[in-house]
Amino acid sequence: MSAKRKYSWGFSYAKYPQPTIEALQKQAEQTLRKAGEKSRQYQPVHVTGTQLCRHWWGKAWCRAIESYSDISNRLARGRRYLKADTVLDLQLAPGEIHALVQGSRMRPYKVQITLDPLSDQNRKKIEEACVGSLPNMEALLNGDLPPTVAEVFTQEGGLFPRRWELHIRCSCPDDAILCKHAAAVLYGVGVRIDENPFLFFQLRGISVEKLIGQKLESRVEEMLSHAQDAPTDRTLPEEEIGKLFGV
Ligand SMILES: [Zn+2]
Repeated sequence: MSAKRKYSWGFSYAKYPQPTIEALQKQAEQTLRKAGEKSRQYQPVHVTGTQLCRHWWGKAWCRAIESYSDISNRLARGRRYLKADTVLDLQLAPGEIHALVQGSRMRPYKVQITLDPLSDQNRKKIEEACVGSLPNMEALLNGDLPPTVAEVFTQEGGLFPRRWELHIRCSCPDDAILCKHAAAVLYGVGVRIDENPFLFFQLRGISVEKLIGQKLESRVEEMLSHAQDAPTDRTLPEEEIGKLFGV
């Protein structure tokens, strides 16, 4: 028993029966219905099929959280909770994750996760890895990455936070190092960014447009400096610019 648990007024989940998945789903539906009646804009996470994530970004996020040795054995319950559609609302903002998760009581729990910002040095490293290496924005968002870029994204100091860069809070009374609500949210982030990797860049405070803009600029310069018949007004034909974006 941890020192923290010792001073938690004797609360123990073992004393209380846990709701079934069916009961949780029913309660979650009811909470969402009530929110709708009050015109609250929730963004629930819905998992279809057995796989949580199908693409590179979501899978890479899940691999990152499953590498956290202190909480890895607590994640399975979160996956179960997420699949029961209990993550009623999940919002990603730069450096912050806010969520509402249906638990055993009627009122959903609030989960807040903050991420330490990338250092200027690491941000520069990420930007430099992208410039000139990514064929286009589509490849970036599809996770169709050159190995060198993928390595910079996933290594320490890259886009995927290490355990000590995450700060997790939940309003539930569980004083474990990671409650099932927060675990569900961690997986929920994987599902959300699997659907829309733009949100991951937003979460990490990185502008995709800037990465691609820098790439475009540098490649335009490169093309202009090498082209024998470069236009004298230093502009590229529209179709050439289109090629750079892969459109
Ligand atoms: Zn909790």
